[in-house]
Amino acid sequence: MKAFRAALAERQTDPAGRRWVYAPYDQLGVMGPLAEEDPRTLGLVMVEDPAKAARRPYHRQKLAYVLANGRHFALEQAERGVAVRFEVAREGTAAALRGIAAELGPLRMMEPAERELRAELAPLVESGALRVLPHAGWLSTAEDFAKACPRAPWRMDAFYRQVRTRTGVLMDGSGPLGGRWSFDTENREPWRGSPPAAVPPRFTPDAVTCEVGALLEARYADHPGRLDLEALPATAADAEALWAWARAACLPSFGPFEDAFSHRSRTLFHTRIAPLLNLHRLLPARVVRDAVALDLPLASQEGFVRQILGWREFVRHTHRVTDGFRTLPRHPAVPPDPPRDASDHAVPSFLGADEALPPTFWGDAPSGLACLDDTVRAVWDEGYSHHITRLMVLSNIATLLDVSPRALTDWFWVAYTDAYDWVVEPNVLGMGTFALGELMTTKPYVAGSAYLDRMGDLCGRCAFVPGETCPLTPMYWAFLARHAERLRRNPRVSGPVAGALKRAPEKRAADAATYDYVRDTLARGDVVSPAGVRAARERGE
Ligand SMILES: Cc1cc2nc3c(=O)[nH]c(=O)nc-3n(C[C@H](O)[C@H](O)[C@H](O)COP(=O)(O)OP(=O)(O)OC[C@H]3O[C@@H](n4cnc5c(N)ncnc54)[C@H](O)[C@@H]3O)c2cc1C
Ligand code: SF4
Repeated sequence: MKAFRAALAERQTDPAGRRWVYAPYDQLGVMGPLAEEDPRTLGLVMVEDPAKAARRPYHRQKLAYVLANGRHFALEQAERGVAVRFEVAREGTAAALRGIAAELGPLRMMEPAERELRAELAPLVESGALRVLPHAGWLSTAEDFAKACPRAPWRMDAFYRQVRTRTGVLMDGSGPLGGRWSFDTENREPWRGSPPAAVPPRFTPDAVTCEVGALLEARYADHPGRLDLEALPATAADAEALWAWARAACLPSFGPFEDAFSHRSRTLFHTRIAPLLNLHRLLPARVVRDAVALDLPLASQEGFVRQILGWREFVRHTHRVTDGFRTLPRHPAVPPDPPRDASDHAVPSFLGADEALPPTFWGDAPSGLACLDDTVRAVWDEGYSHHITRLMVLSNIATLLDVSPRALTDWFWVAYTDAYDWVVEPNVLGMGTFALGELMTTKPYVAGSAYLDRMGDLCGRCAFVPGETCPLTPMYWAFLARHAERLRRNPRVSGPVAGALKRAPEKRAADAATYDYVRDTLARGDVVSPAGVRAARERGE
Protein backbone atom coordinates (compact mmCIF):
# COMPACT_ATOMS: atom_id res chain seq x y z
CA MET A 1 0.00 0.00 0.00
CA LYS A 2 2.89 2.31 -0.81
CA ALA A 3 0.91 4.86 -2.81
CA PHE A 4 -1.79 5.02 -0.16
CA ARG A 5 0.66 5.35 2.73
CA ALA A 6 2.57 8.09 0.92
CA ALA A 7 -0.62 10.01 0.11
CA LEU A 8 -1.78 9.69 3.71
CA ALA A 9 1.57 10.86 5.09
CA GLU A 10 1.38 13.97 2.86
CA ARG A 11 -2.00 14.90 4.35
CA GLN A 12 -1.48 13.90 7.99
CA THR A 13 -1.86 16.47 10.74
CA ASP A 14 -0.65 16.33 14.37
CA PRO A 15 -2.65 13.58 16.15
CA ALA A 16 -2.05 14.97 19.66
CA GLY A 17 -5.13 15.84 21.70
CA ARG A 18 -7.70 14.45 19.21
CA ARG A 19 -11.06 12.90 20.11
CA TRP A 20 -10.94 9.56 18.34
CA VAL A 21 -13.72 7.93 16.36
CA TYR A 22 -13.61 4.46 14.83
CA ALA A 23 -15.39 4.23 11.46
CA PRO A 24 -16.15 0.67 10.30
CA TYR A 25 -15.73 -0.28 6.64
CA ASP A 26 -19.31 0.73 5.79
CA GLN A 27 -19.42 4.12 7.53
CA LEU A 28 -17.51 6.07 4.92
CA GLY A 29 -19.56 9.26 5.11
CA VAL A 30 -19.27 12.61 6.79
CA MET A 31 -21.97 11.94 9.37
CA GLY A 32 -22.22 11.73 13.15
CA PRO A 33 -19.11 13.18 14.91
CA LEU A 34 -17.36 13.73 11.57
CA ALA A 35 -20.18 16.04 10.51
CA GLU A 36 -20.81 17.68 13.86
CA GLU A 37 -17.33 18.34 15.24
CA ASP A 38 -14.40 20.44 14.07
CA PRO A 39 -12.19 18.15 11.93
CA ARG A 40 -9.07 19.59 13.54
CA THR A 41 -10.19 18.21 16.93
CA LEU A 42 -10.96 14.75 15.57
CA GLY A 43 -8.99 11.56 15.05
CA LEU A 44 -10.30 8.80 12.78
CA VAL A 45 -9.43 5.15 13.30
CA MET A 46 -9.88 2.80 10.37
CA VAL A 47 -9.05 -0.88 10.19
CA GLU A 48 -8.63 -2.93 7.04
CA ASP A 49 -9.19 -6.57 7.91
CA PRO A 50 -7.93 -9.22 5.45
CA ALA A 51 -9.62 -11.95 7.53
CA LYS A 52 -13.01 -10.28 6.99
CA ALA A 53 -12.38 -10.06 3.24
CA ALA A 54 -11.49 -13.76 3.19
CA ARG A 55 -14.44 -14.85 5.35
CA ARG A 56 -16.47 -15.75 2.27
CA PRO A 57 -15.54 -15.82 -1.43
CA TYR A 58 -16.76 -12.28 -2.05
CA HIS A 59 -16.92 -11.02 -5.63
CA ARG A 60 -13.63 -9.21 -6.26
CA GLN A 61 -15.49 -6.08 -7.35
CA LYS A 62 -17.19 -6.01 -3.94
CA LEU A 63 -13.82 -6.15 -2.19
CA ALA A 64 -12.59 -3.38 -4.47
CA TYR A 65 -15.58 -1.22 -3.47
CA VAL A 66 -14.85 -1.67 0.21
CA LEU A 67 -11.06 -1.34 0.12
CA ALA A 68 -10.73 1.46 -2.42
CA ASN A 69 -13.50 3.55 -0.86
CA GLY A 70 -12.09 2.95 2.62
CA ARG A 71 -8.63 4.13 1.64
CA HIS A 72 -9.94 7.16 -0.24
CA PHE A 73 -12.17 8.07 2.68
CA ALA A 74 -9.14 8.04 4.96
CA LEU A 75 -7.30 10.37 2.56
CA GLU A 76 -10.29 12.69 2.21
CA GLN A 77 -10.66 12.98 5.98
CA ALA A 78 -6.94 13.64 6.41
CA GLU A 79 -7.30 16.37 3.77
CA ARG A 80 -10.02 17.98 5.94
CA GLY A 81 -7.63 18.10 8.88
CA VAL A 82 -8.79 14.94 10.68
CA ALA A 83 -5.85 12.92 12.10
CA VAL A 84 -6.07 9.42 10.64
CA ARG A 85 -4.87 6.18 12.17
CA PHE A 86 -5.20 3.48 9.48
CA GLU A 87 -4.26 -0.07 10.42
CA VAL A 88 -4.25 -3.39 8.65
CA ALA A 89 -5.45 -5.97 11.17
CA ARG A 90 -3.22 -8.98 11.66
CA GLU A 91 -5.53 -10.87 14.00
CA GLY A 92 -8.94 -9.45 13.24
CA THR A 93 -10.67 -6.10 13.69
CA ALA A 94 -11.43 -6.57 17.38
CA ALA A 95 -7.81 -7.33 18.31
CA ALA A 96 -6.58 -4.32 16.31
CA LEU A 97 -9.09 -2.00 17.98
CA ARG A 98 -8.27 -3.34 21.42
CA GLY A 99 -4.63 -2.38 20.90
CA ILE A 100 -5.49 1.05 19.51
CA ALA A 101 -7.94 1.80 22.33
CA ALA A 102 -5.29 0.77 24.89
CA GLU A 103 -3.04 3.42 23.39
CA LEU A 104 -5.49 6.22 22.55
CA GLY A 105 -8.24 5.64 25.10
CA PRO A 106 -11.86 4.58 24.45
CA LEU A 107 -13.01 5.08 20.86
CA ARG A 108 -16.41 6.31 19.80
CA MET A 109 -18.21 4.32 17.10
CA MET A 110 -21.61 4.64 15.48
CA GLU A 111 -23.53 1.40 15.89
CA PRO A 112 -22.49 -0.91 13.00
CA ALA A 113 -25.22 -1.77 10.52
CA GLU A 114 -23.95 -5.31 10.05
CA ARG A 115 -24.88 -7.75 12.77
CA GLU A 116 -21.69 -9.65 12.05
CA LEU A 117 -19.54 -6.68 13.02
CA ARG A 118 -21.72 -5.87 16.05
CA ALA A 119 -21.19 -9.42 17.30
CA GLU A 120 -17.44 -9.26 16.73
CA LEU A 121 -17.10 -5.96 18.57
CA ALA A 122 -19.53 -6.72 21.43
CA PRO A 123 -16.72 -7.64 23.89
CA LEU A 124 -15.01 -4.28 23.21
CA VAL A 125 -18.27 -2.45 23.81
CA GLU A 126 -18.72 -4.37 27.04
CA SER A 127 -15.20 -3.59 28.21
CA GLY A 128 -15.66 0.12 27.47
CA ALA A 129 -12.95 0.22 24.78
CA LEU A 130 -15.66 1.19 22.28
CA ARG A 131 -18.48 3.61 23.09
CA VAL A 132 -21.50 3.22 20.85
CA LEU A 133 -23.29 6.23 19.35
CA PRO A 134 -26.51 6.02 17.33
CA HIS A 135 -25.89 5.50 13.60
CA ALA A 136 -26.53 8.87 11.95
CA GLY A 137 -27.11 7.38 8.48
CA TRP A 138 -30.58 5.93 8.94
CA LEU A 139 -33.72 7.86 8.04
CA SER A 140 -36.14 6.07 10.34
CA THR A 141 -36.27 5.04 13.97
CA ALA A 142 -37.14 1.94 15.96
CA GLU A 143 -40.27 3.86 17.02
CA ASP A 144 -41.32 4.32 13.38
CA PHE A 145 -41.15 0.58 12.88
CA ALA A 146 -42.89 -0.26 16.16
CA LYS A 147 -45.67 2.20 15.41
CA ALA A 148 -46.28 1.01 11.86
CA CYS A 149 -45.69 -2.69 12.49
CA PRO A 150 -46.86 -3.40 16.04
CA ARG A 151 -47.40 -7.09 15.29
CA ALA A 152 -46.69 -9.59 12.51
CA PRO A 153 -47.16 -9.67 9.62
CA TRP A 154 -45.13 -6.53 8.90
CA ARG A 155 -45.95 -4.49 5.83
CA MET A 156 -43.64 -2.06 4.08
CA ASP A 157 -46.48 0.20 2.92
CA ALA A 158 -47.63 0.89 6.51
CA PHE A 159 -44.05 1.63 7.53
CA TYR A 160 -43.50 3.87 4.50
CA ARG A 161 -46.65 5.87 5.27
CA GLN A 162 -45.46 6.35 8.85
CA VAL A 163 -41.99 7.56 7.80
CA ARG A 164 -43.36 9.91 5.15
CA THR A 165 -45.87 11.34 7.56
CA ARG A 166 -43.28 11.90 10.28
CA THR A 167 -40.60 13.31 7.97
CA GLY A 168 -42.95 15.26 5.67
CA VAL A 169 -41.28 13.82 2.54
CA LEU A 170 -43.57 14.06 -0.53
CA MET A 171 -46.44 15.23 1.65
CA ASP A 172 -49.19 17.71 0.90
CA GLY A 173 -50.37 18.78 4.33
CA SER A 174 -51.33 15.59 6.14
CA GLY A 175 -51.86 13.58 2.94
CA PRO A 176 -49.53 12.18 0.31
CA LEU A 177 -48.50 14.40 -2.60
CA GLY A 178 -50.64 13.53 -5.64
CA GLY A 179 -53.31 11.94 -3.45
CA ARG A 180 -51.74 8.47 -3.31
CA TRP A 181 -49.00 6.92 -1.23
CA SER A 182 -47.75 4.71 -4.07
CA PHE A 183 -47.74 4.92 -7.85
CA ASP A 184 -46.53 1.35 -8.21
CA THR A 185 -49.42 0.34 -10.46
CA GLU A 186 -48.22 2.89 -13.06
CA ASN A 187 -44.69 1.54 -12.94
CA ARG A 188 -45.02 -1.75 -14.78
CA GLU A 189 -44.13 -1.07 -18.40
CA PRO A 190 -41.88 -3.36 -20.38
CA TRP A 191 -38.95 -1.63 -22.09
CA ARG A 192 -38.71 -2.05 -25.85
CA GLY A 193 -35.73 0.22 -26.51
CA SER A 194 -37.19 3.67 -26.00
CA PRO A 195 -36.23 5.93 -24.35
CA PRO A 196 -32.59 4.86 -24.68
CA ALA A 197 -31.33 3.13 -21.54
CA ALA A 198 -28.95 5.01 -19.25
CA VAL A 199 -25.28 4.10 -19.76
CA PRO A 200 -23.35 4.02 -16.48
CA PRO A 201 -20.31 6.30 -16.23
CA ARG A 202 -16.73 5.03 -16.25
CA PHE A 203 -14.06 6.27 -13.86
CA THR A 204 -10.31 6.81 -14.04
CA PRO A 205 -8.62 4.75 -11.32
CA ASP A 206 -5.84 6.65 -9.52
CA ALA A 207 -2.69 5.14 -8.00
CA VAL A 208 -4.49 4.27 -4.76
CA THR A 209 -7.28 2.42 -6.56
CA CYS A 210 -4.77 0.65 -8.84
CA GLU A 211 -2.90 -0.50 -5.76
CA VAL A 212 -6.13 -2.02 -4.41
CA GLY A 213 -6.64 -3.71 -7.79
CA ALA A 214 -3.13 -5.20 -7.67
CA LEU A 215 -3.71 -6.42 -4.11
CA LEU A 216 -6.93 -8.12 -5.15
CA GLU A 217 -5.35 -9.74 -8.19
CA ALA A 218 -2.50 -11.04 -6.02
CA ARG A 219 -4.18 -12.07 -2.80
CA TYR A 220 -7.78 -12.82 -3.82
CA ALA A 221 -7.17 -14.46 -7.17
CA ASP A 222 -9.33 -17.39 -6.07
CA HIS A 223 -12.35 -15.17 -5.43
CA PRO A 224 -14.97 -15.15 -8.18
CA GLY A 225 -16.09 -12.21 -10.30
CA ARG A 226 -14.43 -9.83 -12.70
CA LEU A 227 -12.53 -6.87 -11.34
CA ASP A 228 -13.25 -3.73 -13.36
CA LEU A 229 -11.62 -0.69 -11.78
CA GLU A 230 -13.03 1.68 -14.39
CA ALA A 231 -16.55 0.75 -13.29
CA LEU A 232 -15.66 1.50 -9.68
CA PRO A 233 -16.61 4.79 -8.03
CA ALA A 234 -13.80 4.94 -5.45
CA THR A 235 -13.49 8.57 -4.40
CA ALA A 236 -15.94 11.14 -3.06
CA ALA A 237 -15.75 12.83 -6.47
CA ASP A 238 -16.61 9.54 -8.21
CA ALA A 239 -19.61 9.10 -5.92
CA GLU A 240 -20.76 12.61 -6.85
CA ALA A 241 -20.34 11.80 -10.54
CA LEU A 242 -22.38 8.60 -10.24
CA TRP A 243 -25.15 10.38 -8.40
CA ALA A 244 -25.16 13.25 -10.92
CA TRP A 245 -25.50 10.66 -13.70
CA ALA A 246 -28.29 8.86 -11.82
CA ARG A 247 -30.21 12.11 -11.33
CA ALA A 248 -29.95 13.14 -14.96
CA ALA A 249 -30.06 9.84 -16.84
CA CYS A 250 -32.03 7.47 -14.61
CA LEU A 251 -34.54 9.22 -12.40
CA PRO A 252 -36.72 10.84 -15.11
CA SER A 253 -37.61 7.35 -16.41
CA PHE A 254 -37.08 5.41 -13.17
CA GLY A 255 -40.74 4.66 -12.50
CA PRO A 256 -42.34 3.31 -15.68
CA PHE A 257 -39.59 0.74 -16.43
CA GLU A 258 -38.85 -0.28 -12.87
CA ASP A 259 -40.12 -3.84 -13.42
CA ALA A 260 -38.61 -4.37 -16.88
CA PHE A 261 -35.42 -6.24 -17.78
CA SER A 262 -33.47 -6.52 -20.98
CA HIS A 263 -30.46 -8.22 -22.53
CA ARG A 264 -29.65 -4.85 -24.13
CA SER A 265 -29.10 -3.05 -20.84
CA ARG A 266 -28.23 -4.32 -17.38
CA THR A 267 -29.14 -0.97 -15.91
CA LEU A 268 -32.17 0.39 -17.78
CA PHE A 269 -33.03 3.31 -15.45
CA HIS A 270 -31.84 1.88 -12.15
CA THR A 271 -29.30 4.06 -10.41
CA ARG A 272 -26.60 1.59 -9.26
CA ILE A 273 -26.14 3.61 -6.09
CA ALA A 274 -26.78 0.75 -3.63
CA PRO A 275 -23.09 -0.15 -3.00
CA LEU A 276 -22.31 3.51 -2.28
CA LEU A 277 -25.40 4.00 -0.11
CA ASN A 278 -24.55 0.91 1.91
CA LEU A 279 -20.96 2.17 2.40
CA HIS A 280 -22.36 5.66 3.12
CA ARG A 281 -20.26 7.22 0.37
CA LEU A 282 -23.65 8.64 -0.60
CA LEU A 283 -25.87 9.51 2.33
CA PRO A 284 -29.48 8.31 2.06
CA ALA A 285 -30.85 11.59 3.48
CA ARG A 286 -29.05 13.59 0.81
CA VAL A 287 -30.20 11.26 -1.97
CA VAL A 288 -33.83 11.53 -0.91
CA ARG A 289 -33.54 15.31 -0.50
CA ASP A 290 -32.07 15.69 -3.99
CA ALA A 291 -34.66 13.39 -5.57
CA VAL A 292 -37.51 15.31 -3.97
CA ALA A 293 -36.06 18.63 -5.17
CA LEU A 294 -35.88 17.47 -8.80
CA ASP A 295 -38.59 18.27 -11.29
CA LEU A 296 -39.62 14.67 -12.03
CA PRO A 297 -42.79 12.86 -12.99
CA LEU A 298 -44.40 12.00 -9.64
CA ALA A 299 -44.60 8.27 -10.43
CA SER A 300 -40.81 8.18 -10.88
CA GLN A 301 -40.08 10.45 -7.95
CA GLU A 302 -42.33 8.57 -5.54
CA GLY A 303 -41.15 5.20 -6.88
CA PHE A 304 -37.54 6.08 -6.19
CA VAL A 305 -38.15 7.64 -2.78
CA ARG A 306 -40.14 4.52 -1.76
CA GLN A 307 -37.09 2.33 -2.44
CA ILE A 308 -34.90 4.29 -0.05
CA LEU A 309 -37.23 5.78 2.55
CA GLY A 310 -39.43 2.67 2.41
CA TRP A 311 -37.84 -0.63 1.44
CA ARG A 312 -34.24 0.05 2.45
CA GLU A 313 -35.20 1.25 5.92
CA PHE A 314 -37.93 -1.36 6.37
CA VAL A 315 -35.66 -4.35 5.66
CA ARG A 316 -33.10 -3.01 8.09
CA HIS A 317 -35.70 -2.91 10.89
CA THR A 318 -36.95 -6.43 10.14
CA HIS A 319 -33.36 -7.67 10.45
CA ARG A 320 -32.74 -5.72 13.63
CA VAL A 321 -35.84 -6.73 15.57
CA THR A 322 -35.42 -10.45 14.74
CA ASP A 323 -31.69 -10.57 15.42
CA GLY A 324 -31.08 -11.56 11.82
CA PHE A 325 -34.24 -13.73 11.70
CA ARG A 326 -33.06 -15.93 14.54
CA THR A 327 -36.15 -15.02 16.57
CA LEU A 328 -39.40 -14.65 14.64
CA PRO A 329 -42.72 -13.28 15.86
CA ARG A 330 -45.44 -15.85 16.43
CA HIS A 331 -47.99 -15.94 13.61
CA PRO A 332 -49.70 -18.84 11.80
CA ALA A 333 -48.27 -17.74 8.43
CA VAL A 334 -44.72 -17.25 9.77
CA PRO A 335 -42.39 -20.18 10.52
CA PRO A 336 -41.30 -20.82 14.12
CA ASP A 337 -37.80 -19.74 15.19
CA PRO A 338 -35.59 -21.37 12.58
CA PRO A 339 -32.65 -23.72 13.09
CA ARG A 340 -29.11 -22.31 12.71
CA ASP A 341 -26.30 -23.45 10.45
CA ALA A 342 -22.66 -24.04 11.42
CA SER A 343 -21.99 -20.26 11.23
CA ASP A 344 -24.95 -19.57 13.53
CA HIS A 345 -27.01 -18.08 10.67
CA ALA A 346 -30.76 -18.56 10.69
CA VAL A 347 -32.01 -21.19 8.24
CA PRO A 348 -35.73 -20.48 7.86
CA SER A 349 -37.73 -22.25 5.17
CA PHE A 350 -41.48 -21.75 5.43
CA LEU A 351 -42.04 -24.09 2.49
CA GLY A 352 -39.44 -26.65 3.59
CA ALA A 353 -37.27 -25.98 0.51
CA ASP A 354 -33.84 -27.53 0.97
CA GLU A 355 -32.33 -28.35 -2.43
CA ALA A 356 -28.70 -27.43 -3.06
CA LEU A 357 -28.01 -24.36 -5.19
CA PRO A 358 -27.28 -25.57 -8.75
CA PRO A 359 -23.73 -24.94 -10.03
CA THR A 360 -25.10 -22.77 -12.83
CA PHE A 361 -25.47 -19.93 -10.31
CA TRP A 362 -21.68 -19.87 -9.97
CA GLY A 363 -21.36 -19.35 -13.70
CA ASP A 364 -19.73 -22.77 -14.03
CA ALA A 365 -22.24 -24.25 -16.43
CA PRO A 366 -24.96 -22.63 -18.54
CA SER A 367 -28.47 -23.71 -17.60
CA GLY A 368 -30.00 -23.36 -21.07
CA LEU A 369 -32.58 -20.92 -19.62
CA ALA A 370 -31.66 -17.63 -21.33
CA CYS A 371 -33.12 -15.37 -18.62
CA LEU A 372 -31.14 -17.16 -15.91
CA ASP A 373 -27.90 -17.41 -17.89
CA ASP A 374 -28.01 -13.73 -18.89
CA THR A 375 -28.50 -12.62 -15.27
CA VAL A 376 -25.81 -14.93 -13.87
CA ARG A 377 -23.41 -13.58 -16.50
CA ALA A 378 -24.19 -10.00 -15.39
CA VAL A 379 -23.59 -10.90 -11.76
CA TRP A 380 -20.13 -12.41 -12.24
CA ASP A 381 -19.22 -9.72 -14.74
CA GLU A 382 -20.24 -6.77 -12.56
CA GLY A 383 -21.42 -7.85 -9.11
CA TYR A 384 -24.69 -6.21 -10.08
CA SER A 385 -28.06 -6.86 -11.56
CA HIS A 386 -31.13 -4.78 -10.81
CA HIS A 387 -34.06 -5.58 -8.58
CA ILE A 388 -36.28 -7.39 -11.04
CA THR A 389 -33.66 -9.83 -12.23
CA ARG A 390 -32.75 -10.52 -8.58
CA LEU A 391 -36.40 -11.12 -7.70
CA MET A 392 -38.15 -12.47 -10.76
CA VAL A 393 -35.31 -14.34 -12.44
CA LEU A 394 -32.82 -15.57 -9.83
CA SER A 395 -35.06 -15.88 -6.77
CA ASN A 396 -38.06 -16.97 -8.78
CA ILE A 397 -36.21 -19.82 -10.48
CA ALA A 398 -34.46 -20.86 -7.25
CA THR A 399 -37.80 -20.85 -5.43
CA LEU A 400 -39.50 -22.89 -8.18
CA LEU A 401 -36.60 -25.35 -7.79
CA ASP A 402 -37.07 -25.57 -3.98
CA VAL A 403 -33.51 -24.34 -3.44
CA SER A 404 -32.62 -23.83 0.23
CA PRO A 405 -33.30 -20.12 0.99
CA ARG A 406 -30.16 -20.01 3.15
CA ALA A 407 -28.02 -21.36 0.31
CA LEU A 408 -29.45 -18.72 -2.04
CA THR A 409 -28.88 -15.97 0.56
CA ASP A 410 -25.26 -16.99 1.02
CA TRP A 411 -24.82 -16.89 -2.73
CA PHE A 412 -26.32 -13.38 -3.03
CA TRP A 413 -24.13 -12.28 -0.13
CA VAL A 414 -20.91 -13.09 -1.98
CA ALA A 415 -22.12 -12.32 -5.50
CA TYR A 416 -23.40 -8.72 -5.20
CA THR A 417 -21.36 -5.61 -4.54
CA ASP A 418 -24.12 -4.13 -2.35
CA ALA A 419 -24.67 -7.17 -0.09
CA TYR A 420 -24.36 -6.90 3.71
CA ASP A 421 -26.18 -9.07 6.21
CA TRP A 422 -28.79 -6.47 7.24
CA VAL A 423 -29.96 -6.01 3.65
CA VAL A 424 -29.29 -9.28 1.87
CA GLU A 425 -30.94 -11.57 4.43
CA PRO A 426 -34.32 -9.83 4.54
CA ASN A 427 -34.38 -9.44 0.78
CA VAL A 428 -33.61 -13.06 -0.03
CA LEU A 429 -35.22 -14.83 2.92
CA GLY A 430 -38.16 -12.47 3.29
CA MET A 431 -38.89 -11.28 -0.21
CA GLY A 432 -37.12 -13.50 -2.72
CA THR A 433 -37.90 -16.95 -1.40
CA PHE A 434 -40.86 -16.71 1.02
CA ALA A 435 -38.68 -18.45 3.62
CA LEU A 436 -40.27 -16.24 6.32
CA GLY A 437 -43.82 -16.93 5.11
CA GLU A 438 -46.00 -13.84 5.23
CA LEU A 439 -43.78 -11.98 7.69
CA MET A 440 -42.69 -9.30 5.19
CA THR A 441 -44.53 -10.01 1.94
CA THR A 442 -48.05 -11.11 1.20
CA LYS A 443 -47.18 -13.96 -1.15
CA PRO A 444 -44.29 -15.79 -2.81
CA TYR A 445 -42.90 -13.93 -5.82
CA VAL A 446 -43.13 -16.79 -8.30
CA ALA A 447 -44.09 -16.65 -11.96
CA GLY A 448 -44.01 -18.69 -15.13
CA SER A 449 -42.85 -17.69 -18.58
CA ALA A 450 -45.79 -15.36 -19.37
CA TYR A 451 -44.57 -12.81 -16.83
CA LEU A 452 -40.92 -13.08 -17.89
CA ASP A 453 -41.86 -12.77 -21.54
CA ARG A 454 -43.99 -9.68 -20.86
CA MET A 455 -41.45 -7.82 -18.71
CA GLY A 456 -38.22 -8.94 -20.41
CA ASP A 457 -36.83 -9.59 -23.86
CA LEU A 458 -34.76 -12.71 -23.29
CA CYS A 459 -37.33 -15.22 -24.51
CA GLY A 460 -36.60 -14.36 -28.15
CA ARG A 461 -32.99 -15.44 -27.55
CA CYS A 462 -33.84 -18.64 -25.73
CA ALA A 463 -33.96 -22.26 -26.88
CA PHE A 464 -37.41 -22.40 -25.27
CA VAL A 465 -40.69 -20.84 -26.35
CA PRO A 466 -42.67 -19.16 -23.56
CA GLY A 467 -46.08 -20.74 -23.01
CA GLU A 468 -45.06 -23.75 -25.12
CA THR A 469 -41.76 -25.47 -24.41
CA CYS A 470 -40.50 -23.22 -21.58
CA PRO A 471 -40.29 -25.33 -18.40
CA LEU A 472 -40.93 -22.40 -16.03
CA THR A 473 -44.71 -22.44 -16.38
CA PRO A 474 -45.11 -26.16 -15.62
CA MET A 475 -42.62 -25.64 -12.78
CA TYR A 476 -44.83 -22.83 -11.50
CA TRP A 477 -47.87 -25.15 -11.46
CA ALA A 478 -45.82 -27.92 -9.89
CA PHE A 479 -44.61 -25.49 -7.20
CA LEU A 480 -48.17 -24.46 -6.30
CA ALA A 481 -49.33 -28.09 -6.21
CA ARG A 482 -46.32 -29.23 -4.13
CA HIS A 483 -46.84 -26.47 -1.57
CA ALA A 484 -50.64 -26.35 -1.69
CA GLU A 485 -50.95 -27.30 1.95
CA ARG A 486 -48.89 -24.29 3.07
CA LEU A 487 -50.22 -21.83 0.49
CA ARG A 488 -53.93 -22.57 0.16
CA ARG A 489 -54.87 -20.30 3.10
CA ASN A 490 -52.95 -17.36 1.61
CA PRO A 491 -55.62 -15.10 0.08
CA ARG A 492 -53.30 -13.85 -2.68
CA VAL A 493 -52.38 -17.28 -4.00
CA SER A 494 -55.32 -19.45 -2.96
CA GLY A 495 -56.86 -18.91 -6.44
CA PRO A 496 -53.78 -20.07 -8.39
CA VAL A 497 -53.29 -22.95 -5.91
CA ALA A 498 -56.87 -24.09 -6.52
CA GLY A 499 -56.19 -23.75 -10.26
CA ALA A 500 -53.07 -25.91 -9.96
CA LEU A 501 -54.94 -28.60 -8.08
CA LYS A 502 -57.74 -28.59 -10.66
CA ARG A 503 -55.44 -29.29 -13.56
CA ALA A 504 -56.05 -32.64 -15.25
CA PRO A 505 -54.11 -35.47 -13.56
CA GLU A 506 -51.92 -36.03 -16.65
CA LYS A 507 -51.01 -32.32 -16.77
CA ARG A 508 -50.13 -32.34 -13.08
CA ALA A 509 -47.98 -35.40 -13.61
CA ALA A 510 -46.27 -33.68 -16.56
CA ASP A 511 -45.70 -30.55 -14.43
CA ALA A 512 -44.11 -32.63 -11.68
CA ALA A 513 -41.97 -34.56 -14.19
CA THR A 514 -40.76 -31.27 -15.75
CA TYR A 515 -39.78 -30.00 -12.30
CA ASP A 516 -37.90 -33.25 -11.56
CA TYR A 517 -36.11 -33.10 -14.89
CA VAL A 518 -35.02 -29.44 -14.55
CA ARG A 519 -33.98 -29.85 -10.89
CA ASP A 520 -31.94 -33.01 -11.58
CA THR A 521 -30.38 -31.68 -14.79
CA LEU A 522 -29.25 -28.42 -13.16
CA ALA A 523 -28.02 -30.29 -10.07
CA ARG A 524 -25.70 -32.29 -12.33
CA GLY A 525 -24.47 -29.08 -13.96
CA ASP A 526 -26.05 -30.07 -17.28
CA VAL A 527 -27.99 -27.95 -19.74
CA VAL A 528 -31.79 -28.07 -19.78
CA SER A 529 -33.00 -28.67 -23.33
CA PRO A 530 -36.36 -28.55 -25.14
CA ALA A 531 -35.94 -32.24 -26.02
CA GLY A 532 -35.32 -33.06 -22.36
CA VAL A 533 -38.39 -31.09 -21.28
CA ARG A 534 -40.50 -32.79 -23.96
CA ALA A 535 -39.31 -36.25 -22.90
CA ALA A 536 -39.98 -35.46 -19.23
CA ARG A 537 -43.51 -34.31 -20.01
CA GLU A 538 -44.21 -37.43 -22.04
CA ARG A 539 -42.91 -39.59 -19.22
CA GLY A 540 -45.23 -37.77 -16.81
CA GLU A 541 -48.37 -37.83 -18.96
C1 LIG B 1 -33.27 -11.33 -3.83
C2 LIG B 1 -32.86 -9.91 -3.59
C3 LIG B 1 -31.63 -9.63 -3.01
C4 LIG B 1 -31.27 -8.29 -2.77
N1 LIG B 1 -30.08 -8.05 -2.16
C5 LIG B 1 -29.71 -6.77 -1.88
C6 LIG B 1 -28.48 -6.48 -1.25
O1 LIG B 1 -27.71 -7.38 -0.92
N2 LIG B 1 -28.15 -5.18 -1.03
C7 LIG B 1 -28.98 -4.16 -1.38
O2 LIG B 1 -28.64 -3.00 -1.16
N3 LIG B 1 -30.17 -4.41 -1.96
C8 LIG B 1 -30.55 -5.68 -2.22
N4 LIG B 1 -31.74 -5.92 -2.84
C9 LIG B 1 -32.65 -4.80 -3.11
C10 LIG B 1 -32.50 -4.17 -4.50
O3 LIG B 1 -32.64 -5.15 -5.48
C11 LIG B 1 -31.18 -3.44 -4.67
O4 LIG B 1 -31.04 -2.48 -3.64
C12 LIG B 1 -31.12 -2.69 -5.99
O5 LIG B 1 -31.35 -3.57 -7.05
C13 LIG B 1 -29.76 -2.02 -6.12
O6 LIG B 1 -29.59 -1.52 -7.40
P1 LIG B 1 -29.76 0.04 -7.71
O7 LIG B 1 -28.87 0.81 -6.81
O8 LIG B 1 -29.58 0.20 -9.18
O9 LIG B 1 -31.24 0.27 -7.26
P2 LIG B 1 -32.38 1.29 -7.74
O10 LIG B 1 -33.41 0.49 -8.45
O11 LIG B 1 -31.82 2.46 -8.44
O12 LIG B 1 -33.03 1.72 -6.35
C14 LIG B 1 -32.53 2.79 -5.57
C15 LIG B 1 -32.13 2.33 -4.21
O13 LIG B 1 -33.22 1.87 -3.44
C16 LIG B 1 -32.75 0.97 -2.45
N5 LIG B 1 -33.57 -0.26 -2.49
C17 LIG B 1 -34.49 -0.59 -3.40
N6 LIG B 1 -35.10 -1.74 -3.06
C18 LIG B 1 -34.53 -2.14 -1.92
C19 LIG B 1 -34.72 -3.26 -1.07
N7 LIG B 1 -35.64 -4.20 -1.35
N8 LIG B 1 -33.93 -3.37 0.00
C20 LIG B 1 -33.01 -2.44 0.29
N9 LIG B 1 -32.78 -1.36 -0.46
C21 LIG B 1 -33.55 -1.21 -1.55
C22 LIG B 1 -31.30 0.65 -2.78
O14 LIG B 1 -30.49 1.36 -1.89
C23 LIG B 1 -31.15 1.18 -4.19
O15 LIG B 1 -29.86 1.63 -4.47
C24 LIG B 1 -32.14 -7.25 -3.10
C25 LIG B 1 -33.36 -7.55 -3.70
C26 LIG B 1 -33.72 -8.86 -3.93
C27 LIG B 1 -35.05 -9.15 -4.54
S1 SF4 C 1 -38.43 -18.94 -22.63
FE1 SF4 C 1 -38.50 -19.39 -20.45
S2 SF4 C 1 -36.40 -19.90 -19.85
FE2 SF4 C 1 -36.31 -18.92 -21.86
S3 SF4 C 1 -35.94 -16.75 -21.40
FE3 SF4 C 1 -38.16 -17.01 -21.57
S4 SF4 C 1 -38.87 -17.40 -19.50
FE4 SF4 C 1 -36.63 -17.69 -19.48
